[in-house]
Amino acid sequence: FDDRDGWIWLDGQFVPWREAKVHVLTHGLHYASAVFEGERMYGGEIYKLREHTERLFFSARQLDFEIPYTVEEIDRACIDACAKNGLTDAYIRPIAWRGSEMIGVSAQNTTVHVAVAVWDWPSYFSPEEKAKGIRLTWAKYKRPSPETEPVHAKATGLYMICTISKHAAEKDGYTDAMMLDYRGYIAESTGSNVFFVKDGVLHTPTPDCFLNGITRQSVIALARQKGIEVVERHIKPEELSTFSECFVVGTAAEVTPVSEIGEFRFKPGTLSLSLMDDYARLVRRELEPA
Ligand code: PMP
Repeated sequence: FDDRDGWIWLDGQFVPWREAKVHVLTHGLHYASAVFEGERMYGGEIYKLREHTERLFFSARQLDFEIPYTVEEIDRACIDACAKNGLTDAYIRPIAWRGSEMIGVSAQNTTVHVAVAVWDWPSYFSPEEKAKGIRLTWAKYKRPSPETEPVHAKATGLYMICTISKHAAEKDGYTDAMMLDYRGYIAESTGSNVFFVKDGVLHTPTPDCFLNGITRQSVIALARQKGIEVVERHIKPEELSTFSECFVVGTAAEVTPVSEIGEFRFKPGTLSLSLMDDYARLVRRELEPA
């Protein structure tokens, strides 16, 4: 992904895509002292830009480092990066990490770097899969307890088990993996939150040990705006047989129907499809937010 034309905002300046490099002794690479965001621009406007930038700053503080810019400057970098690359519909990836001045566990005197890359990423899952509903298997690893990791930070280290799980799923012919939490409740997928439907009511896991996604919050607000009841609670895997529909949500994934999780089957039904459509209209400002 490094050999292409374009510009990346790196520490306050635009550099050619191929030259946006870091040293091999970067602390963030060795010890996962790095946090990132994933955002989307639709028709020239970044959906929930401020919320994403604020989460980036929150994540950095959770990892005990300060981003050496203001929230406004990072907002501006995201907008400018899209403009500089001539994109009005784009995926935006800000990332902040500790540099290479020190290479032990302690990194008190490292500088903090920030980059913003943007690219065209129309669909996280293939449109064919999305229409049928994606197939998920169970992940081998569980989301850790809040006593184990800063679970609400969008920190690179928390993605190690996501990548392992996603690879294992792909090797077995699935699109993604569903992760349980440390107690055995349904948590989230490797890059998205999950919703279930039972008798016209939405059920979604309480985000007490994983990301309370910005898309998740938008979908809850959208559903309530439509008069749909939303219940946030702990959900056991064996309950999955009682749900008729399932879908995952995230900035990259948007709203994507799920057709199976392990031994359980779902049909992309009216509720999933109408929320998918509403979300697509909401982010393009064709629907008033709640
Ligand atoms: N969970 C995980 C593990 C994710 O990577 C993401 C994507 N950031 C989400 C949930 C959804 O978060 P958001 O809606 O804020 O993109």
